[in-house]
Amino acid sequence: MAPFLGLFCAFDGGIDTSFSFPLPHRPFCGLSPAVRGIPARPLGSVEVITGSMFSGKTEELIRRIKRAILARQRVQAFKPRIDDRYDAHRIVSHEAVSVDAVAVGTSASIEERILEETDVVAIDEAQFFDRGIVEVCDRLANRGLRVIAAGLDQDYLGRPFPPMPELMAIAEEVTKVHAVCSVCGGPACRSQRIISEATTVLVGGAECYEARCRGCFEPREVPRTLF
Ligand code: ADP
Ligand code: MG
Ligand code: ZN
Repeated sequence: MAPFLGLFCAFDGGIDTSFSFPLPHRPFCGLSPAVRGIPARPLGSVEVITGSMFSGKTEELIRRIKRAILARQRVQAFKPRIDDRYDAHRIVSHEAVSVDAVAVGTSASIEERILEETDVVAIDEAQFFDRGIVEVCDRLANRGLRVIAAGLDQDYLGRPFPPMPELMAIAEEVTKVHAVCSVCGGPACRSQRIISEATTVLVGGAECYEARCRGCFEPREVPRTLF
């Protein structure tokens, strides 16, 4: 009898007809590969954590890394070499929580460093990478890895911060986190630059930026028509 697909979950080897659904380490979607007549291949995914500065992106990334390690998965973490604000070899949140990471200059160096046994690839400050980061994340997910990338969605003028829009587009899951607006205390989605410096990439912390909501954000220098 043909299985009633709505009730059944497909895992590695075939169809699970029980009514309890244990979560496999690397699930397969839809019909099992055996049923579809194609070779078994684990599915990876891309998760993006995004928001303004101080919104807790790094904290959330570290939380997911720690949970993956608790689940005995092998994690490799990366950050752009440009971000040496707190530590050159660790991902560090504004609350000084940290995990080991490798600082790399390009997206290609991330791909080159991925080990055969790696399950999870975590990337912080993804907005500072070249556009190749999108293809790299996509390829790694296609190889069966779980990729988690955290980064700013907007620059200091409120413009989409490449390559985050593309990364969000190819991601299975996007989490937007919010800071607290330094002016009104509401949920903040923008990073207000508080020093006069016109370059898009200015790595800094509370001395250069504060979190602001849409209403309290004051984009300087460039009119919004550039959006
Ligand atoms: P992000 O990576 O998004 O810049 P982090 O995860 O490094 O943020 O840091 C988040 C932490 O920053 C919060 O837990 C909080 O202690 C601190 N923080 C400082 N200013 C703010 C703010 N305006 N809103 C929220 N958190 C803030
Ligand atoms: Mg951060
Ligand atoms: Zn506000």
